[in-house]
Amino acid sequence: MNTLRVIFGDQLSLGLSALRDLDPGRDTILMMEVAEESTHVGHHKQKIVLVLSAMRHFAQALRERGVSLDYVTLDAQDNTGCFTTEVERAVRRHHPGRIVLTEPSEWRVQAMVDTWRSLTGTPVEVRIDDRYFASRSRFEVWTRGRRTWRLEHFYREMRREHGILMEGAQPAGGEWNYDAENRKPLPVDLVPPGRLRFAPDAITSAVIALVERRFPDHFGELAEFGWPVTRAEALRALEDFTEHALPHFGEYQDAMKAGAPFLFHSLLAPALNLGLLSPHEACRAAESAWKAGKAPLNAVEGFVRQILGWREYVRGVYWSLMPAYAARNALQATRKLPAFYWTGDTDMRCLRETIGSTARYAYSHHIQRLMVTGNFALLAGIAPREIERWYLAVYADAFEWVEMPNTLGMAVFADGGQMASKPYAASGAYIDRMSDFCSGCAFDVKRKSGPGACPFNYLYWAFLIRQKDRLAANPRLAMPYRTLARWPQERLAAILQEAEVFLKSLH
Ligand SMILES: Cc1cc2nc3c(=O)[nH]c(=O)nc-3n(C[C@H](O)[C@H](O)[C@H](O)COP(=O)(O)OP(=O)(O)OC[C@H]3O[C@@H](n4cnc5c(N)ncnc54)[C@H](O)[C@@H]3O)c2cc1C
Ligand code: SF4
Repeated sequence: MNTLRVIFGDQLSLGLSALRDLDPGRDTILMMEVAEESTHVGHHKQKIVLVLSAMRHFAQALRERGVSLDYVTLDAQDNTGCFTTEVERAVRRHHPGRIVLTEPSEWRVQAMVDTWRSLTGTPVEVRIDDRYFASRSRFEVWTRGRRTWRLEHFYREMRREHGILMEGAQPAGGEWNYDAENRKPLPVDLVPPGRLRFAPDAITSAVIALVERRFPDHFGELAEFGWPVTRAEALRALEDFTEHALPHFGEYQDAMKAGAPFLFHSLLAPALNLGLLSPHEACRAAESAWKAGKAPLNAVEGFVRQILGWREYVRGVYWSLMPAYAARNALQATRKLPAFYWTGDTDMRCLRETIGSTARYAYSHHIQRLMVTGNFALLAGIAPREIERWYLAVYADAFEWVEMPNTLGMAVFADGGQMASKPYAASGAYIDRMSDFCSGCAFDVKRKSGPGACPFNYLYWAFLIRQKDRLAANPRLAMPYRTLARWPQERLAAILQEAEVFLKSLH
């Protein structure tokens, strides 16, 4: 039977389940560049270049293997701009006996796939995406009977199940978690390593020109594009990270420095999310570095926790709770996203630096996302959907299955504690401790109120006052609420007033 095999832009793995029983003599692979995927949120230009260039390089690798490929380019005259109508057209071209694909990563696309059988009259076989450590059903088994879904419990189970960083039944080194050795601020004299970036080749350069032409108004700059777009480049990026940055990854995982957005982070999320690199390869490479004495255990455990733990866990949360999860708004936040999220035009240096690197590289690291842009959105009461769409638009690694739980669950507590045991709310003191941003800021991080006070300070307390009914019973917030209880009503009213004046000045 001739088969039409559909591959999406984040399924660029030769071992993909949809390709397993490929018959090169009879089957056709369909790959589609459709405008809807670039415009349903206005993605960063680098993100569009990354996905289209990686798709075109993957198509080239397939052609070199003698596979029959039907590749619909973005600029093809008869391109209808949407996956479903493109599949309908392909069925009319090829008359396949069946359509085979690997489950899409995103709920919205899964809903489209569900219509294909009736629309095309062709049987559709959707296969499990086994490029993850935990399948969707494996995660659901883990959630059964659990009141709370805490990362730590899931992570330990994954470590045991996959034998990563294990010594028999015990965690390597005797501890599951080395956070006590991590999370340090960056010493002033420590220079982060230079990072391997990949200069655009002819394919990428053509896509850059296409994106400049088709999406000139989208957010972000293209000059610094340097993401891996092939599997060979992704493997080199992994090797480079393991050798030069992994040894300090744990220690300075939460540190922030002006003008140095990458520090010791891996920059591997785009390659992992597109399928150029597998999470297994990344974890095993780190584990091998530890075994060879090239990286300490606290760094390697910290890195493995992010991939084997967080990455798998957020995917499980996403698929277990969608589509209702997208509408969660436990704190009833309704404010519009301030315009400076798109321009970086603000006197708050931490936000200006983070948004600046986001525009320049389509990147900022986890703590910048969580504790700067995310923390501000939480404290300012930005509507979850507004900030969630922003995160989906602006990062090279942004795919809804991983971005949405991180935003709604971790950054703005919109899921009411499904993922996090308390909101990640912090005053300016946290940003000051973990970065050098405050020293060059127009605001004074030490001032709690009045002219020149750091807005994070009074926004933090105003947030706790506003959310008292929802949050005061949370044992992890007992200390700040005890502090608030000691303050006179006039002081609380003044904080709310100062926060309100500041928030009203945003547009
Ligand atoms: C509000 C918010 C939005 C986010 N949106 C995305 C997103 O769209 N896509 C995305 O891949 N990550 C997202 N993250 C998680 C994390 O910030 C990025 O994975 C990381 O910054 C990517 O940079 P890196 O590859 O240098 O990561 P590193 O710091 O080097 O970490 C190594 C790898 O671990 C994984 N990882 C680390 N933290 C997480 C996490 N919290 N959840 C899932 N995987 C994780 C990534 O695959 C990453 O490449 C988001 C986090 C927050 C707080
Ligand atoms: S003083 Fe406040 S606004 Fe300025 S960089 Fe520090 S935390 Fe950010």
